[in-house]
Amino acid sequence: MSHQVVIKNAVKVYGDYKAVNNANLTIKEGELFTLLGPSGCGKTTLLRMIAGFNKIDEGQISFGSKVINDIPAHKRNIGMVFQNYAIFPHMSVFNNVAYGLKARKINKAEINKRVSKALEMVQMTQFKDRQPTQLSGGQQQRIALARAIVIHPDVLLMDEPLSNLDAKLRVTMRTIIRKLQKDLKITTIYVTHDQEEALAISDRIAVMKLGVIQQVGTPVNIYKSPQNTFIGDFIGTSNYLKGKVMGKDKNGTKISVNEKIINIKLSKDYQGEVIVGARPEEITIVDRKDDEISGEIIIGTFLGDFINYEIKLSNGKIIEVNEYTKDISHIRNSGDKVSLILSSNKIHVYDGTGEEVLL
Ligand code: ATP
Repeated sequence: MSHQVVIKNAVKVYGDYKAVNNANLTIKEGELFTLLGPSGCGKTTLLRMIAGFNKIDEGQISFGSKVINDIPAHKRNIGMVFQNYAIFPHMSVFNNVAYGLKARKINKAEINKRVSKALEMVQMTQFKDRQPTQLSGGQQQRIALARAIVIHPDVLLMDEPLSNLDAKLRVTMRTIIRKLQKDLKITTIYVTHDQEEALAISDRIAVMKLGVIQQVGTPVNIYKSPQNTFIGDFIGTSNYLKGKVMGKDKNGTKISVNEKIINIKLSKDYQGEVIVGARPEEITIVDRKDDEISGEIIIGTFLGDFINYEIKLSNGKIIEVNEYTKDISHIRNSGDKVSLILSSNKIHVYDGTGEEVLL
């Protein structure tokens, strides 16, 4: 049976550096949950603490109602898939997948049934008698996946499982993993540094930086409401413009951006410098208007369903704006003078350091 995983105030220290700094997460039963962040942010360390390969220095991790801090890795009933496949080169595909079941002393008929089912699920039935050396990287990774699920783990842990595969295979494999995970409803914790992969595969994501969890949410929630400028930059593209709070009235807070004033209803009272963040698709381009932020088209790139523009603002800052093909009749020319509308319901306002969202 699948389990929820609860992580409370978990800490891992290397020397005087907290590789995992007070992590708190509840991963729901049957959920595909991703730890996402740049290299060195601590995601593998946290996954290894859940697996039982790294000691938990402080805090507590539980599967269901059972605290597992002191339970050794081989008794945690986890399935694991790693980046480097880690399948046994001298064993046939069948024996690789059967390995965990034999170790658990399951009877032969049941082993045959479960291995066949697992191979069918990863679409590898016809390869059961092959040696791993006769398989491609993608096929080896499917065997690793079959081997991890065949034991009916309480929790499935995956550490960059697609990193060694080429771009096209990565996309195919992530769909296979997602479907399988949904069919089997195994609580799954997935580690990646690839933001697109995380958005595509996850039910929810935790974004990490320097050992600290920055934000937890659904892919849509994290993409649309990044809680700080690091997240907005790491996931998707964000334009950041310097702004300054000029005062407040019944229409909201007045922020000066590129010599124009925008009115925004901030959830907090704030004075001084701010950073205004907007995704390329959250800015509207219009013909030049005096009271809007002005810019000049540097270049437009036609990308099928949208056109991506590089636009230079009057203060010299260059931003990216996307315009959807369905809304337009022509591509704007380099040198065209335009105005840009930042609507208050789409943009994000952060404090002067970019660490805290104010909206
Ligand atoms: P990557 O995507 O590069 O694998 P990561 O986010 O998984 O990165 P971790 O491997 O968890 O990062 O490492 C987190 C931090 O802990 C890094 O600064 C790393 O150098 C440090 N670290 C990891 N393992 C050890 C160790 N055994 N001894 C000392 N420091 C370590």
